[in-house]
Amino acid sequence: MANYDVIIIGSGPGGYVCAIRCAQLGLKVACVEGRETLGGTCLNVGCIPSKALLHASHMLHEAEHNFAAMGLKGKSPSVDWKQMMAYKEKTIGQNTSGIEFLFKKNKVDWLKGWASIPEAGKVKVGDDVHETKNIIIASGSEPASLPGVEVDEKVVVTSTGALELGKVPKKLVVIGAGVIGLELGSVYARLGSEVTVVEFLDVVTPGMDAEIQKTFQRTLKKQGLTFVMGAAVQKTEAMKTKAKVTYKLRKDDSEHVIDADVVLVATGRKPYTEGLGLDTVGIKMTERGQIAVNGKWETNVPGIYAIGDVIEGPMLAHKAEDEGMAAAEQVAGKHGHVNYGVIPGVIYTHPEVANVGATEEELKEQGRDYKVGKFSFMGNGRAKANFAGDGFVKILADKDTDRILGAHIIGPAAGDLIHEICVAMEFGASAEDLAMTCHAHPTYSEAVREAALACGDGPIHM
Ligand SMILES: Cc1cc2nc3c(=O)[nH]c(=O)nc-3n(C[C@H](O)[C@H](O)[C@H](O)COP(=O)(O)OP(=O)(O)OC[C@H]3O[C@@H](n4cnc5c(N)ncnc54)[C@H](O)[C@@H]3O)c2cc1C
Repeated sequence: MANYDVIIIGSGPGGYVCAIRCAQLGLKVACVEGRETLGGTCLNVGCIPSKALLHASHMLHEAEHNFAAMGLKGKSPSVDWKQMMAYKEKTIGQNTSGIEFLFKKNKVDWLKGWASIPEAGKVKVGDDVHETKNIIIASGSEPASLPGVEVDEKVVVTSTGALELGKVPKKLVVIGAGVIGLELGSVYARLGSEVTVVEFLDVVTPGMDAEIQKTFQRTLKKQGLTFVMGAAVQKTEAMKTKAKVTYKLRKDDSEHVIDADVVLVATGRKPYTEGLGLDTVGIKMTERGQIAVNGKWETNVPGIYAIGDVIEGPMLAHKAEDEGMAAAEQVAGKHGHVNYGVIPGVIYTHPEVANVGATEEELKEQGRDYKVGKFSFMGNGRAKANFAGDGFVKILADKDTDRILGAHIIGPAAGDLIHEICVAMEFGASAEDLAMTCHAHPTYSEAVREAALACGDGPIHM
């Protein structure tokens, strides 16, 4: 079999980016993928299909709620579910075939099938054993399970099933108020489902800035989502086309049952390492089932690296991509680096939610002296014109040095706006640096500048 410099296992955002970078750095590289198409969870059953459905359902929401006010009259569009699914599939296809094209262009061999590692320096795919100087594991993650909840991907579904339902359910129960549950919950709420979110904690999107959590939950409630907070799901029972969800309220231990046409289990994801044979080669794992790596993404076995969802850190496509590039550079003898302090997180609902760096709660816990600069999108001309005045930008900066420590945005295009703050943080900028930078008018980004001004002498338009 062919000899390689690197074989990467998994073609998600971590694996495919790593493969392309390895090839660009002059290494002979192959990427093994067991799925029919390249791109991993993200392109096939994650980021891309969910964003297609978020886009389509947002367009419907705009037509139903804002068109008439702008003088756009006429009947709102109705949902052709089959066509919406076809649009989603086409979007997936365009993206996955794009990776295939990039592999060919960069001379990355796609080894089709499921890989295992019989020993360091060898990767087995089907009956073939390939020799390689380095192995990079990028095998990703799978939905986490919940005791008492049996997924059939028809009535009780994970995000994968929720992206390909036969029809829009009348009643959808979402277990878990994390990013995936709320994104898909808002898709179906906009398409007409009655959506109830059952969450164990008392807050949505755990780990986010508390002020954002509250505003976000309030906004989603206004959009018609119902929340049952502090509720521990005991079990689900699936009938042919219906299900029941039993939960206990933590505050008084009372038991309740809700009916659903579909139950979406969105209680997180766990690393996927099945069939790799990690025991055989003696790869150390963390207590949470992730592959343990050092700061250079090396496992305890020389020549074997791991990146992406299968190691610790936020389970995000761009985090996996950055690790993919950095690990490629390590393997090529360079000095790959990832700044884990500046990894943005985005929720693609409407309004969007985005964050980077520390939350206010974290700064309090660290006992840091900080200041807060906030600006509401109500004071932003563009947002008002576009019916997007809900939300705010919040910048946290060090009280003495003015250095930006974190930023939290809920509002229009938050997922794009956050990046100017990421760049500022990467360069160690102060809030004043942002405030002194000219921002075009009228743009949403002026709200970022105003929040930066609010860290100093004050915003202009508030
Ligand atoms: C519904 C949903 C929406 C999401 N939305 C976003 C988003 O908007 N933004 C964001 O940043 N993240 C999002 N994510 C998370 C994102 O998809 C993951 O963080 C990302 O895909 C991780 O990339 P990865 O390369 O580590 O692994 P994956 O993308 O999981 O890819 C791993 C690949 O490895 C393959 N593989 C595994 N084992 C083997 C083996 N032994 N042999 C061969 N192939 C193997 C798998 O088939 C898979 O294709 C979302 C996830 C879901 C489920």
